[in-house]
Amino acid sequence: MEAITTTSRVGDQLLCRPTVFYNDACFSAETNLQCSCGNEEQLSITPYESGFPFAQVYHFQQLISTSQLLARGMAKETAPFYQHFGAYTVNNLPTFYFKTVCDQCHQKRITVFSFGEQQPGLEVLTISGTWKLEEESSN
Ligand SMILES: [Zn+2]
Repeated sequence: MEAITTTSRVGDQLLCRPTVFYNDACFSAETNLQCSCGNEEQLSITPYESGFPFAQVYHFQQLISTSQLLARGMAKETAPFYQHFGAYTVNNLPTFYFKTVCDQCHQKRITVFSFGEQQPGLEVLTISGTWKLEEESSN
């Protein structure tokens, strides 16, 4: 899992299942990602360890434009009461992302997920999806 450091364009969504985990299952979340080349791999996500704050990609440097982010359904505008989690989130919960690269075709991909307590006693990890990522050369 890597961070994104250059301006990037978001491409087609890839198949990634399952995408929602509850309570204890959040802490051993494993999802199957199918690349466009057909290669399948398991992504393991660990709350509080995996990923980088999603705000890093749309704040300040605008590595991914907010218009693409919304058009692709990576996140939604955060409800007013939850703005401390960032302007764009998945289910109004703390939202993270990471970049992976296919071992077979070297396609770069971005996965976006959120994790937190959705209701008292109900922790939810939701993967909004995985998309192809085209990094533009820096500078
Ligand atoms: Zn691939």
